[in-house]
Amino acid sequence: MTEVDKLTPVLTKRWLSPNSWTLRTYEQLEGYTALPKALRGSPEQLVQLVKDSGLRGRGGAGFPAGVKWSFMPPNEDKPHYLVINADEGEPGTCKDIPLMMADPHSLIEGCVIASYAMRAHHCFIYVRGEVPHCIRRLNAAVAEAYQAGYLGKNILGSGFDLELVVHAGAGAYICGEETALLDSLEGRRGQPRLKPPFPAAAGLYAQPTTVNNVETIASVPYIVNAGADWFRTMGSEKSPGPKIYSLSGHVERPGQYEAPLGTTLRELLDLAGGMKDGIPLKFWTPGGSSTPLFTAEHLDVPLDFEGAAEAGSMLGTTALQIFNETVSVPWAVMKWTEFYKHESCGKCTPCREGTYWLTQILQRMVRGEGTETDIDTLLDVCDNVLGRSFCALGDGAVSPITSGIKYFKDEFLALCESNRAKGASQTEPALAGAGS
Ligand code: NAD
Ligand code: SF4
Repeated sequence: MTEVDKLTPVLTKRWLSPNSWTLRTYEQLEGYTALPKALRGSPEQLVQLVKDSGLRGRGGAGFPAGVKWSFMPPNEDKPHYLVINADEGEPGTCKDIPLMMADPHSLIEGCVIASYAMRAHHCFIYVRGEVPHCIRRLNAAVAEAYQAGYLGKNILGSGFDLELVVHAGAGAYICGEETALLDSLEGRRGQPRLKPPFPAAAGLYAQPTTVNNVETIASVPYIVNAGADWFRTMGSEKSPGPKIYSLSGHVERPGQYEAPLGTTLRELLDLAGGMKDGIPLKFWTPGGSSTPLFTAEHLDVPLDFEGAAEAGSMLGTTALQIFNETVSVPWAVMKWTEFYKHESCGKCTPCREGTYWLTQILQRMVRGEGTETDIDTLLDVCDNVLGRSFCALGDGAVSPITSGIKYFKDEFLALCESNRAKGASQTEPALAGAGS
């Protein structure tokens, strides 16, 4: 298979077109052709189509999108909401923001179709606040869509109404957790809610709500146009479709590569020109820093939901952060742990206290002041955070530490031993002096 055969530009196909973000370019390149088709069918038919396609959530967890949509009540006794999770914050993840910058109308068209399928008349796109350029671009595209009759009252004469609002978050990683996002959207401090109830039962303003990721919803117009069977020609039976893989770090050509689910890092590295300056790979993350570190042993792991799980990870956000042999694992793990400590919302004790103490220990080790018991203490604290925290942030925080120690224990030990050696060399002259 050649490199070009392996790439499957679907979501990314317009990205390099001139002014790809404008309505004019989008319409010239088949944009808004799925919407009239969708509006001619029933909401139930759309939900079935998305179920048949096998589209799974692209935010990281891979929950089947059509199944999630089917949880929304079939009547309209209460207001229904669609909320797009565009709070892309996982370290290394850079797929949704490029998508919204290059092709915002594909997301908007997906929002209208998905809202129709779920009988929602209000849709919010919740974008992280640190990307004002992206918020400006989305707002401009939304204004164009209103002007052209793709949003607002009686869309394309179908009788369906939809109001769409772009909402800027305030830069908290936890607001990417769907229920914290809903709290934040309601104007409160973003902290995760207890689930169940899941948002379809009680979400925004306690009303039926579906929260979907940007890449998930932007896939919908293509499925409406080309069909569920076409979508299943890419990827595997349980993980169908194309996926945007983000490669960053020590690669020759970092960026976004859209390829079928199940593509391996070895294949993606070929597409990205290989390791930078030919320096060998040391470790990498398959799906952002909340997934375990992988090594060269994992180069042929199929990067889909099942392949990642078999190798002991979640697929996560397909943010492949690539590190070469020059990088110290304890140092990288410390930097990620500092991030989680900073972003822990403080609601539950294991994560709030655990990330604090994990950071303290790792910083001490990296300063060369580690002790022999530090590795055991780190693993013990991780054990008390994993599975005992209120939301996925706690579990994610310990992944780099436990996997870093699993594959690179020698590096952690070396830091502690160098401290012991330093301690010995400091005390020996004194002892020698005392005896003379
Ligand atoms: P989850 O598995 O708890 O839920 C996934 C989705 O499925 C949610 O929308 C949830 O409401 C729904 N769901 C799950 N079980 C359900 C049920 N029984 N009934 C109804 N709905 C149900 O995962 P999560 O905590 O929402 O997300 C964790 C993922 O987020 C991780 O895989 C991580 O990679 C990813 N993540 C992404 C980013 C980012 O920037 N995109 C940041 C941090 C984490
Ligand atoms: Fe907050 Fe961390 Fe607990 Fe999640 S795990 S609720 S981020 S303290």
